Amino acid sequence: MKAAILAIGSELLGTERLDTNSLRLTKVLERYGVELVGKSVRPDDETAIADELRRFAQEADLVLITGGLGPTADDITRQSLARAFSLGLERNDDLVEALRERFRRFGREMAEVNLQQADVIEGATILANPLGSAVGQRVPVQGDSVRSDSGDATFFLFPGVPRELEGMISDHLEPWLAERSDGSGSETIVFKIAGYGESEIEQQLQPLYDEHGRDGITILASPGEIRLMITARGTADERRRFLEIREASVREAVGHFVFTENADDTLETVVLRELKRRGEMVATAESCTGGLVAERLTRVAGSSSGFAGGVVTYSNELKTQLLGVPAEAIVENGAVSEIVARAMAVGARERLGTDYAISITGIAGPGGGSEEKPVGTVYMALSGPDGTEVFHKVFHGDRHGIRWRTSQHVLEELRRRLVTKPDSGA
Ligand code: AMP
Ligand code: MG
Repeated sequence: MKAAILAIGSELLGTERLDTNSLRLTKVLERYGVELVGKSVRPDDETAIADELRRFAQEADLVLITGGLGPTADDITRQSLARAFSLGLERNDDLVEALRERFRRFGREMAEVNLQQADVIEGATILANPLGSAVGQRVPVQGDSVRSDSGDATFFLFPGVPRELEGMISDHLEPWLAERSDGSGSETIVFKIAGYGESEIEQQLQPLYDEHGRDGITILASPGEIRLMITARGTADERRRFLEIREASVREAVGHFVFTENADDTLETVVLRELKRRGEMVATAESCTGGLVAERLTRVAGSSSGFAGGVVTYSNELKTQLLGVPAEAIVENGAVSEIVARAMAVGARERLGTDYAISITGIAGPGGGSEEKPVGTVYMALSGPDGTEVFHKVFHGDRHGIRWRTSQHVLEELRRRLVTKPDSGA
């Protein structure tokens, strides 16, 4: 089966709205082994939509459309599809009644334009949408207008609101695909790694590549983080065999670098989970990151069970006053130095009374660098029950990138300390 996706909405051609629906739909198609042959975004324009639908009908057996099912004048997906294939469009009495009932329930007056949401394309099956007023439709199209070797194509009309689409996918699209699936599809396993470069990871994987080839293995790098993905295609059995070998080899080669194998996890969620499991707390003392690490930790719901709090000590005076960093140490070594980072972490741990403390002092730029300490120079320290360790890095990138990489690096150092040290017994 070949599929195409059409996202409808003029706003999707601007800079304010991103077409995320097609990505969501692509994921489902991949899972059921359906090949995506094309996708596009079209404005709320009847001719543009009809032309694209006729084109897709020649290329695909399945066309998934989102958007343009609303009640306003620019919602013209229904009539565009009807026109593209010379199908009738008829107002459905049950849907009219359901719309009236919906408005009564919300105590609102229904405008006449809303009634277009009750228009059903000839031959279509109505797809219920419990989350909104726009029902979806599944429309079979036959004849010369569709790809010749199959003889008919199926069009799905889904609402544009991502939350509503989500429900429609599981209620209507997945069952339809499952019925037609021979059990083949694809699945992807993700390994997330922080604080290492792409090339370092590549190198570790060389033996695996030598033995099994690079097929199905992708490394996606973003600042401070790498996603290593293994994708298997075929029947459930083929996928299992493919993954079994590679998963084990990847774990063996880079397993200790991996902070999670769950695509939804972030570094901060993993760190907090580990702290909670151990019954331990961390505090932060940040200078050039201005609270970024604390912010990331508190993004996670329930962070209070692992994160006690933190201080932003940007000035030298506050480093001394709040953390007890000796003023002479700052004068002699500079605020961005191993000694100051260490004193900040030790001071934070003592004064904030936590098991661990993280400290950060560095030059995020663009100014303030020198030959000896260029922009990107960062000292991070991690103080815990078994001592204090300082990490020195020179990150590249702009101010934002340097601060982000710093937060990644120090959180990864904490994570590694937590998973490699035995439990305190708490
Ligand atoms: P519509 O169904 O065209 O009335 O769209 C309703 C809402 O869903 C609007 O706020 C759109 O911006 C949003 N939307 C429509 N299409 C997409 C899409 N492809 N991806 C993400 N959001 C969308
Ligand atoms: Mg729209």
